[in-house]
Amino acid sequence: MTDAPISLFDMAAQQALVRADMDRRIAAVLSSGRFINGPEVAELEGRLAAFAGCAHAVGVSSGTDALQIAMMAEGVGRGDAVFLPAFTYTATAEVPLVLGATPVFVDVDAGTFNLSIPDLEARIAAVKAEGRLRPRAVVGVDLFGLPADWPAIEAICAREGMFALDDAAQAFGAALGGKRLGRWGGAAALSFYPTKTLGAYGDGGALLTDSAERAELYRSLRTHGEGGHRYEVLRTGMNGRLDTLQAAILLCKMDLFDQELRDRARVAALYRARLAGRVAMQRVEAGQDSAWGLFTLRLEGPEQRARVQDALKAAGIPSAIYYPKPLHHQPAYRAAHGEGRAPLPVSEALAHQVLSLPMHPYLTEAQVHRVCDAVLAAA
Ligand SMILES: *Cc1c(COP(=O)(O)O)cnc(C)c1O
Repeated sequence: MTDAPISLFDMAAQQALVRADMDRRIAAVLSSGRFINGPEVAELEGRLAAFAGCAHAVGVSSGTDALQIAMMAEGVGRGDAVFLPAFTYTATAEVPLVLGATPVFVDVDAGTFNLSIPDLEARIAAVKAEGRLRPRAVVGVDLFGLPADWPAIEAICAREGMFALDDAAQAFGAALGGKRLGRWGGAAALSFYPTKTLGAYGDGGALLTDSAERAELYRSLRTHGEGGHRYEVLRTGMNGRLDTLQAAILLCKMDLFDQELRDRARVAALYRARLAGRVAMQRVEAGQDSAWGLFTLRLEGPEQRARVQDALKAAGIPSAIYYPKPLHHQPAYRAAHGEGRAPLPVSEALAHQVLSLPMHPYLTEAQVHRVCDAVLAAA
């Protein structure tokens, strides 16, 4: 095999395409000295909003801070129940706890790996019956790039007077019914962690919303609750800004983003064609355009998964397990989950079954075939 090594994410191929532009953009920031709130931040916000088709984008310091600022803006705090999937990255559950609210873990759908709507309904009913917490918000996660069931989440939130927050950290670029994430729910939180679909060279994030009122609150909260002018403090905020250098880097990457999304879809289609009928994969439903942040298999159990992962490793192919533990089993969240809640069987099963394959826009057809050959030989 003379084919190039396969990586899980590839940031080098991408950098080579925009390196000259990046050097120019970075040099301009270094010369301007405007490292905080430089013009690149507003320029990027304009590009992000235009891409998503939403009215406002607000750059922030990370995806986690985007979630936190969005919840602070709604006044989420003590006594509030925030419903979120048990099968997601830790940040989704951490934020309500930091704000004094209680995360209520909801099971996920065995096919899409996203929030189970029947289980969400059951948990809201249980919290209401218990009468201890106020149902306040639902955080839908678009796991691995696949949009959650936003029409259903929005309808439930409207009915219950709750805030619908889209944790789109893994899914920028995805669409549902032709409508991109950023226009679903009250706001969408993006992460620019380097390996996300749009990644910076450090931490960064953004909030997308159609609400002018929310966008203004987000801008205030990311700058210590600042008012119309500097040193006027209207509310308790945080230092949650996106820095100018990261914005400059992201602007260069935005030039590639459309093509990269098409290439991710091309890779996913090839994986799906090769693996269909042989191994289960995250299920994509009609109207869902995944951003393909990750390509994830659902194997029969830990033995088959270990076998496939070993075979990939022997062939020099990396793979990863997102996530080996559902959040309600994490020591940090056990107390918040509490005793006596209904079990979360799908989240628990998936933790033993999922395996993510290499996924990035620069995988060649031959490389995808190599990965599939190794998977099929071991599965
Ligand atoms: C990455 C991620 C976050 C956090 O984003 P950071 O930029 O790393 O803070 C939140 N939620 C999900 C689902 C993520 O994958």
